[in-house]
Amino acid sequence: MNPNASTLYIHCPKCNGSTLILREGSDVVCAACRFDYVSFSSDSPAFESYLVARMRGSAFEKLAAIALHQWVTRLPPADASAAIRAMAGRHGISLPDPASGDPVLRAAAIFGTVVVLLVLGLVLAAVLGS
Ligand SMILES: [Zn+2]
Repeated sequence: MNPNASTLYIHCPKCNGSTLILREGSDVVCAACRFDYVSFSSDSPAFESYLVARMRGSAFEKLAAIALHQWVTRLPPADASAAIRAMAGRHGISLPDPASGDPVLRAAAIFGTVVVLLVLGLVLAAVLGS
């Protein structure tokens, strides 16, 4: 597996499809067409409307937008989180719990918790049903 690949897919403005985000040193590009997200982010209004469109999408798109924003701005996680929350707020979008760490790790932690709760629920249902 490419060590530079993230596990996040996002809507690429150039491919017009959902593609893997690649991180190469300080570069952040589309894995399919090498669209340059760092250059894109220097055009603040266009980048903001792009991120806002993603944040209006699914929970996974929100997560990808938050991560992409952090990677291209290279702000400390707390500052990046505050910045994208302010941006979301300006557009009337509410984001999930404050992201104080790596959004990918947070998503994994949330996913793990949901799986544990589901398993507990199934065990409980089996016990109660017998
Ligand atoms: Zn692309």
